[in-house]
Amino acid sequence: MPVKPQFAEVIVNKAVQAVDRIFHYQIPDRLAAQIEVGSIVIVPFGRQKLEGIVVGFVAEPEVAQVKEIDELVFPFPLLSKALIDLAYWMADYYLCPKVSALQAMLPGGLKLLPTGLKGKNTEYAFLVQPSGGLGQEGKPSGRIGSKQQQILAYLGEHPGSPVTQMLAATGASRSSLKSLLEKGLVEVTREEVYRDPYGQRKLPKADQHQLTEEQINVLKSIETEYALNNRPILLHGVTGSGKTEIYLRLIERMLTDGKESIILVPEISLTPQLVSVFKSRLGEKVAVLHSGLSWGERRDAWVNIARGVVKVVVGARSAVFAPCFHLGLIVMDEEHEQSYKQDNVPRFHAREVALERCRLQKASFLMGSATPSVETYYWALEGRYRLITLKYRIYQRPMPTVKIVDMRQELKEGNRSIFSRLLQEKLRERFSRGEQSLLFLNRRGYHTFVSCRTCGTVLKCAHCNISLTSHGGNRRLSCHYCGYSIPVPKTCPQCGSLAIRHFGTGTERVAEEVKKLLPEARVARADGDTTARKGAYDEIYFGVKSGAVDVLVGTQMIAKGLDFPLVTLVGVISADMALHLPEMRAGERAFQLITQVSGRAGRGALPGEVVLQTYNPEDPTLLAAARQDYSTYYQGEIERRRISGYPPFGSVIRILFSGEDYGHLQRDALIIARFVQAELNEESEILGPAPAPLEKIKDRFRIQMMIKTRNLAETRLDLVRGLDLARGEGYPHKNILVAVDVEPLNM
Ligand code: ADP
Ligand code: ZN
Ligand code: ZN
Repeated sequence: MPVKPQFAEVIVNKAVQAVDRIFHYQIPDRLAAQIEVGSIVIVPFGRQKLEGIVVGFVAEPEVAQVKEIDELVFPFPLLSKALIDLAYWMADYYLCPKVSALQAMLPGGLKLLPTGLKGKNTEYAFLVQPSGGLGQEGKPSGRIGSKQQQILAYLGEHPGSPVTQMLAATGASRSSLKSLLEKGLVEVTREEVYRDPYGQRKLPKADQHQLTEEQINVLKSIETEYALNNRPILLHGVTGSGKTEIYLRLIERMLTDGKESIILVPEISLTPQLVSVFKSRLGEKVAVLHSGLSWGERRDAWVNIARGVVKVVVGARSAVFAPCFHLGLIVMDEEHEQSYKQDNVPRFHAREVALERCRLQKASFLMGSATPSVETYYWALEGRYRLITLKYRIYQRPMPTVKIVDMRQELKEGNRSIFSRLLQEKLRERFSRGEQSLLFLNRRGYHTFVSCRTCGTVLKCAHCNISLTSHGGNRRLSCHYCGYSIPVPKTCPQCGSLAIRHFGTGTERVAEEVKKLLPEARVARADGDTTARKGAYDEIYFGVKSGAVDVLVGTQMIAKGLDFPLVTLVGVISADMALHLPEMRAGERAFQLITQVSGRAGRGALPGEVVLQTYNPEDPTLLAAARQDYSTYYQGEIERRRISGYPPFGSVIRILFSGEDYGHLQRDALIIARFVQAELNEESEILGPAPAPLEKIKDRFRIQMMIKTRNLAETRLDLVRGLDLARGEGYPHKNILVAVDVEPLNM
């Protein structure tokens, strides 16, 4: 057995700039056999005890007085060497502390690991060396009796079996189990059930489809690419073209080869539909990770992945860190989705992380979308990725027909309803035929703002520079940023006038108007308000799927991924909202949203229709979206990007300053900007500092500065130098926060 050096390199759980480095600790003899790269340990740090991750070993410590590791908190490593390397890459790329990147890779971060392991009462048994990658050194000693053999065989088939069940099934005794434990062949953990959040619900069965000819050809191209060049692939397939089936076939291939797969989906599409497709096709080998899981459920899944019991991981953004030791494939569905970017530290984009992870683990990467992000499409055309397309819907079903309705004309002709006459007529028609309709509006609430007719004051949150939205049939006003909420005032707080009026429309009001139009119809609403309770979204989903809902009203959570074959009408209440955001990506997002929501119509045997209501019927983005014409849209957008030097032609780093005192904030931002400017290379320019688009949130003012650059690698270093120099001079002051976002999306 190779002798391990006595000193471990440890990153401790403390996200402070000055502490973000590697410390050396002595490995006590009693732990020498168990500590590996990726082990979670407790170490003395100053006067504290902190969790830490072992990231390597050294023969000679860098200081003479080296302290000893106190404890090992988990019996086997949860992070591979590849994931630790990935964390280092993230720290460099996104300018975050290494420990923050490592924390993002563990369920609940480091802090929760020790307590999560103790005090549970059911016992579960595992083979120490399952098929997964947790290599353990050393051979078992002593004879293995036949009862013990039976236990080993049983656990091979039923990893994580409850001990009582395993003993009953094999007829073995506790003492046989005990000798296996002593030989180090079996491990027992004590805890609640290996919780399967979907265990209770009977999920609909998903059949395997006979592939269409187009799917067969695409699959062949994908496999050839992976075998020959292993370039990342962009699968550009229209909505309803059967991309999921392609993913499934690739995953099945990986399983045959003994490799693991990670399927990334936007949080919003982790519907029972998607879960049931994966579960019923791939069975026990799938773990589903999403934000609704309890800490225990998440930890269970993580452990099973690391042990190699789970071979397919389906999850949102952070599933990109799933500890698959034999990773063969990462699939990123709806590649263009914004939710792949995390907006707190570490501010990573799962696409970039997946690209790097696949490079490190020599795995394949597949991105799928009907509306790829402009950057990804550009790189695919440039050859950095391989572009493969699915042009047709399954069975060549037609794309929905889209009618654009000019709402100015409606108003002129006396229709003040939020529904155009065409939409009203179509809604009635659908209802009478027993078909389903879907109404989309990307704003929750009843009205979207309240103002005084006398003095023009718009009611705003007391803590944010944001107008308040009315909810509950106009009884309360609340802030969508901080949750601040007040009853609707009877008089204007500014001038005392009684002329308080409500403006704008949210989903709550749309649902109410549908009930007026179709009093008999069963109406459901899916938005942040109706789905806050656990399980609520699933109920709505099953209601629509089973035909118990006639009209579904919702925000973007109904725009994407849903496959409801009975929906034949989609109404977009206002296509304008997304178009006019003061952001570089506003057009891209509007195009994606409208294309995606239109794609919900006509997915079954009946053809679909879409009614798009707008005050800008000539807008080119809208027209392209209505025709589902990605290529025209892309050509317009890429030219705009080229001219302005925005991604993919350059990168952006945003530095956001926030603080409670505007004067101090402004001063510090200006001084820090000067420090950075002095260090900055010539391929970069600073925009700002200037007030951020949301100037005040939760009582903190916000000022931002952008660095636009054609040399991101260099600029990162320049920025770090500038910030360090400023810090050396005492900037920012203590009460001011500086947040660095490399390649922000919401701009
Ligand atoms: P996309 O993700 O491309 O929008 P989906 O994968 O959801 O499309 O597929 C659309 C629908 O077509 C689904 O209901 C799916 O079950 C069905 N489907 C996919 N492939 C086939 C096939 N080869 N034969 C029949 N139906 C299929
Ligand atoms: Zn007033
Ligand atoms: Zn607020």
